[in-house]
Amino acid sequence: MEKAVKVLIDGATSDLTFSYLVPEGMSVTPGQRVRIRLRNRPAVGTIISLEKVDTATLSYSLKPIEGVVSEDAFLTPGLIELANWISSFYLAPVETVMRTMLPKPSRGEHEKRKKEKTAALVTGYEAKTAAHRISKKQREVIEFLEVNGLTALAVMISAQGLSRSSIKSLEDKGLVEIEERIVQRDPLSNVEYVANEALELNSEQKEVLEEVLEAGRKISRGEKPKPILLYGVTGSGKTEVYLQAIQDTIREGKGAIVLVPEISLTPQTADRFKQRFAAIQDQVAILHSNLSEGERHDEWRKVLEQKARIVIGARSAIFSPIKNLGLIVVDEEHENSYKQDIVPRYQARDIAVVRAHLEKCPVLLASATPSLESWNNTLTGKYDLATMSKRVDDQKMPLIRIIDMRLEGKKTKSGPTILSTKLRQSMEQRLEDGEQTILFLNRRGFARNILCPECGYVANCRHCATTMTFHRGEDRLICHICGFSQLPPRKCPECSSKSIVNAGFGTERVEEILQKVFVDARITRVDTDSMRKKNQLRDTLNDFRAKKIDILLGTQMIAKGLHFPNVTLVGILNADVGLHIPDFRAGERTFQLLTQVAGRAGRGELEGEVVVQTYTPHHPSIQHARHHDFEGFAEQELQMRKQFGHPPFQRMVLVTVRSVHQERAEFSLKTLHARLKRGLPEGMGLTDPLPSPLVKSHDQWRYQVILKGLNPRRMTEHIRTVMKDLTFPSDVIVTFDVDPYSMG
Ligand code: ADP
Ligand code: ZN
Ligand code: ZN
Repeated sequence: MEKAVKVLIDGATSDLTFSYLVPEGMSVTPGQRVRIRLRNRPAVGTIISLEKVDTATLSYSLKPIEGVVSEDAFLTPGLIELANWISSFYLAPVETVMRTMLPKPSRGEHEKRKKEKTAALVTGYEAKTAAHRISKKQREVIEFLEVNGLTALAVMISAQGLSRSSIKSLEDKGLVEIEERIVQRDPLSNVEYVANEALELNSEQKEVLEEVLEAGRKISRGEKPKPILLYGVTGSGKTEVYLQAIQDTIREGKGAIVLVPEISLTPQTADRFKQRFAAIQDQVAILHSNLSEGERHDEWRKVLEQKARIVIGARSAIFSPIKNLGLIVVDEEHENSYKQDIVPRYQARDIAVVRAHLEKCPVLLASATPSLESWNNTLTGKYDLATMSKRVDDQKMPLIRIIDMRLEGKKTKSGPTILSTKLRQSMEQRLEDGEQTILFLNRRGFARNILCPECGYVANCRHCATTMTFHRGEDRLICHICGFSQLPPRKCPECSSKSIVNAGFGTERVEEILQKVFVDARITRVDTDSMRKKNQLRDTLNDFRAKKIDILLGTQMIAKGLHFPNVTLVGILNADVGLHIPDFRAGERTFQLLTQVAGRAGRGELEGEVVVQTYTPHHPSIQHARHHDFEGFAEQELQMRKQFGHPPFQRMVLVTVRSVHQERAEFSLKTLHARLKRGLPEGMGLTDPLPSPLVKSHDQWRYQVILKGLNPRRMTEHIRTVMKDLTFPSDVIVTFDVDPYSMG
């Protein structure tokens, strides 16, 4: 018998596995990435299992593994199991799922790791110094290395101001060794963290912490605790509970993952974790998209090498290779950004529950506005509910005022009003009192598109069937779907009218107007356009905290997780635009957004006020948000969802067919629809074939059907059976989205 492995090959459209021999002297483990040959071409794959084969009995010869991508197994056994689960549930190839789990630089034939020149003293250098004349500058180098040990040359020269030529002469003398080594970059290495102590918990916090710890104890007794949903109002001290639960997890020698939405992974959040666990360097790894690819990779490496035991990160951090997992927390669990919109289209909150189940650890989902899916799971008894209904120190919830903008509009003749009289006055008051204001703009709604007031022409992207957005700074129209850009027309292409104008307001436009209204105010705009530079957001938020900014104007980026005690006014400029889109979650999203944004006000000693501007003041989402009434909102919304058979009562799979050829896309979808319909299992529903809401995108035509039913596994099983004996033209792409968040 000889040692062999089963290897899952990268890049194949459907999963391919082959056996390969393990060469003499090579030792490998499942989850390790290897280089092999496939049909005489070099290829890469992941070892999914070890096996023993008797090559003498085989009618063909097995090829050997050519080499390893790394000595380390990138995937833990738990992650391999999870990849299989995701593949089956979301109808995605296992190999795609596995590579999604890895940071980019480790997905290829070689793990791309940055090497740097480093310097260190050779052993026994003291004895050797006697034989040489050592200059003052060289002495400085030696003393530095005595204290700091091996250091990157770049750091010694640029940050420490040591002399390059002195280091070189020491190398010539054989006292210092210069070597290329892998150096881990730490994006926050220039920040010093002062450890802070755990706070004395209030009684609600204590109860929740106890519940999480009890779930852990249940697991060690062999019981299976339910996932816990923590419904805790904004400012109730949820983060402090996570911190203390993690402290306990670390004490037990286990690791923890905290998922936070990308937009709320602010420096402030990261700092709270870094500070609490500052006692051990590198213990906390932070994974977010603002890091360079190399930095992300280094953070991930720290986890892989089990140096970092705590991971804070956005969606994909759920795949962190922590070996002995003791806790998973999903903060702001209702956030849409947990759903990935490319293959594999997984929902990280659900994956957190699955991973916790597979690896036997407690899982805590938390939000001030839980998703209706999770809330419903507490009603059916699938999840346990924990509640924190009071703000820390019993602060009051901020007073929310609703302003009917239909009435405001009538007051002026110059088009839509941006600031109501009430909001303007409140802002003036804050400026006078030296308090701060956050203004929130729901970007999605403030369509900044080009519209002809004479004929109604709207500038559309020629590759996608969507309106282009006007960017004042660059003076260009940009498509937010494909990135295509062009100069804005100076006259209407349809009717030649010169009065073609900018129809809505973007953050830039609002900033301009604010600056005119509040001449002396210090105003800063925060959105993805203005915060491109590294650390710009961190610096801006620091300035805001230091009261160097009076008014912070921004989009979703400032809606979550920020904590500024001196902010006493939050204005929401256009509360309801998100309501008028064809999506059954529109009401839920609006409620969540209003509640979260309102939660930014009055987080200090001073009482907070929220001004909500809307054209539909009586909408239930707005009224329930006004009364801080999540439970009332959930009850009403769930009743409606039940009536219409929407999630969470029925589940959905969105099937989309795309092609550059319109007829082929349409025809292929019709064929697929007919096959799905034939033998449709009882209890499942199928919509008619329809053009997608976005019928053309990136030059591709899109058609879709939606499969509905109670059991997602039965639906995907049906799809798999149908797809098995269907083939499509090569330019036709069929995609599946289980539990979709965007209806095309
Ligand atoms: P949430 O995550 O629910 O919005 P946070 O955890 O951010 O709330 O807490 C809000 C503020 O209250 C933070 O500044 C935090 O340090 C503070 N805080 C939390 N728990 C306590 C406590 N038990 N005692 C005193 N301050 C607390
Ligand atoms: Zn026109
Ligand atoms: Zn486009």
